Amino acid sequence: MQLSIDLTGREVLITGSDTAARQAVRRYRAAGAVVSRLSSPAGAAQAGPLPERPFLVAAVDDGQPGWAAVLGRYRETGVPVAAEPAAGPAGHVTLVGGGPGSTELLTVAAVSALRDADVVFYDRLAPYQELPALTTADLLDVGKRPGHHPVSQSGIEELMVDAALAGKNVVRLKGGDPYVFGRGGEEVAACITAGVPVRVISGVTSAISVPAAAGIPVTHRGVSHLFTVVSGHAPLTEREHTHLAGLGGTIVVLMGIGTLHHLAAGMRRAGMRVDMPMAVVERGYRPGQRTTIADLGTITTAAAGCSNPAVLVIGDVVKVAEANLGYAGAEAELDRLASALTGA
Ligand code: SAH
Repeated sequence: MQLSIDLTGREVLITGSDTAARQAVRRYRAAGAVVSRLSSPAGAAQAGPLPERPFLVAAVDDGQPGWAAVLGRYRETGVPVAAEPAAGPAGHVTLVGGGPGSTELLTVAAVSALRDADVVFYDRLAPYQELPALTTADLLDVGKRPGHHPVSQSGIEELMVDAALAGKNVVRLKGGDPYVFGRGGEEVAACITAGVPVRVISGVTSAISVPAAAGIPVTHRGVSHLFTVVSGHAPLTEREHTHLAGLGGTIVVLMGIGTLHHLAAGMRRAGMRVDMPMAVVERGYRPGQRTTIADLGTITTAAAGCSNPAVLVIGDVVKVAEANLGYAGAEAELDRLASALTGA
């Protein structure tokens, strides 16, 4: 027999260990009940905050001896006791850094986590097109792109946690590295709060790899001995412009296309020289990768047609790339000449 009761605002005491009761707790909370918990029969002695006469006791059989007596006492006072199944073993969540977009740049750990997953929640910046070749897991697009978040951050966290609580091995595949502008810390916290085991697999961040795709080293002996990675998502403050310009190293800006004009103007006001080399690298490691090289004075015009995803690099290291690429070109030319001469 099945019975539907509106539990909104009703006090429900759920008995059973945290592990065994986790799904019952979630179900009753979702039904609007005010849930209190008794996780061991011995706890009954010091059960101060427990409701004296709950609307219902939901008893999860976790195999601990002693529950019969506790439940018997509630039954005697006329409180109904409903038997609830114990939850199976919990799944876990793995936050995986997917790198800048090519499966070649996935780590070995990322590939094995994907292979073992039951469900993968992925972003558009992760190498999602190749996923069916890497895993048999259910694939769910939670589709983060600038200005386009079909599932809210809290919605994503809820989906992950719910799937893990239902016993699934969940992979959360993110672009680049989960801890670089990836909200990885928040997703880990959500898992911990829900009691879900969670681990993080670092990924190749676009902050370093996308400049590299264009031949730009973020540091170079004698040219730059530091690099700063900045989010351009929100416009920087005047103070930040001043500090950045004063550092004298390489500046790497992610999510910076929308605020490029503001940044370039701010850096000029902060005294950065107008011939400071700048590069915009769009769609690194993907079809249509493109590099636009200009300088602080000309970048706004030069990059007018640039779009996300793109990494902006400010600094003399951009010149190193130009020199290296020039050299590589020279090498190819020499090869061509050499093979022409040897008749190969
Ligand atoms: N966690 C990610 C960054 C997320 S923020 C990482 O570590 O790479 C998203 C920004 O990353 C984009 O707006 C863009 O600036 C940059 N980005 C990510 N992948 C990129 C790619 N393949 N080409 C260019 N920029 C990329």
